[in-house]
Amino acid sequence: MKIPSEPIGSIPRSPELVAAITNPSGNADLQKLYADAITDTLKHLEKTGSPVITDGEQTKSSFATYPLEGLTNLTAEGMRIDFEDGHSRQLPLLTSGPFRYGNYAVKYLTAAQKLTSLPVKQAVISASALSLIYPAAGIEGYSQAEFIADLINECEKDIRSCLEQGAYKVQMDFTEGRLSLKLDPSGGVLKHFIDLNNQVFDRFTKEEQQKLGVHVCPGGDHDSTHSADIDYAGLIPALFTLNVGSFYLQLASEPDRPKVLQIIKQHLKPSQKAFVGVIDVLNPVIESKEEVRDRVLEAAEFIPLNQLGTTDDCGFSPFCDDVSTTRETAFAKIKARIEGTALAEKELLA
Ligand SMILES: [Zn+2]
Repeated sequence: MKIPSEPIGSIPRSPELVAAITNPSGNADLQKLYADAITDTLKHLEKTGSPVITDGEQTKSSFATYPLEGLTNLTAEGMRIDFEDGHSRQLPLLTSGPFRYGNYAVKYLTAAQKLTSLPVKQAVISASALSLIYPAAGIEGYSQAEFIADLINECEKDIRSCLEQGAYKVQMDFTEGRLSLKLDPSGGVLKHFIDLNNQVFDRFTKEEQQKLGVHVCPGGDHDSTHSADIDYAGLIPALFTLNVGSFYLQLASEPDRPKVLQIIKQHLKPSQKAFVGVIDVLNPVIESKEEVRDRVLEAAEFIPLNQLGTTDDCGFSPFCDDVSTTRETAFAKIKARIEGTALAEKELLA
């Protein structure tokens, strides 16, 4: 396809898998369930016609916390992220240094590559999200500066190992970008997050940066958001200063898409591609391919064709226990994205 189309990452886990994860003392063979889930997810993603697939994050605890799996220097009482519907998610806090990942994303990539011949994309968490696990009161004998230096090294290692393993793209999830403007409307925290993530991206060559991407959204958990009320216009100019080639942008669920597209148009650099969200992952209604086509045509009025791609607004289940969307709905929506993008391409290239 001339207009590239890529998923974000996560696919809902099956009810059986969620039950086994949330009740590990049960009799279920979790490792077998995980293996079956990856195989089944790849098979269904292949059937959607998607030219690039992911492992559906079937074995990740969440998009943000996988590097913390197995670590013993954490407590539970970290930053809390509140969602519109009243539920919240909480990050852990680091209790001692040095900070090293317990788990790297390349593990998921390698497992998926063994089971498909299609290109596999890998999502990783941002340095900025993980920077939030350092306690405000500090850690004796392990300064914040030492932590940040370790964090940047670890985040680079997480990305580089995926590139070396042949990832089609490596996408950094940056959902806290828009959220930061809620916590600090001055934009100071956002600027700090952008600088931190660019310290990671700047360790890669220009060619490598073309294989790197960033995903932003207002959050998507239990069909609810954490920062949809924050104006996208505050995020976009800073966002495109990130030194990567691809941007995966929630857009389908925006109330005023042309306004957002106009701002993207103003700030997108020639070396960058905008993958616009044409699937609303929080809406259970499955988009028709014609609806998707129209969203692509709308975006093409603002974004040059050679810089335009399509994606879903977000992963379908960034946290492992989110079953607000069924697997069947997720696969049907992805199929609509692929078919609708192809329809638009036909019109645009005619
Ligand atoms: Zn997202």
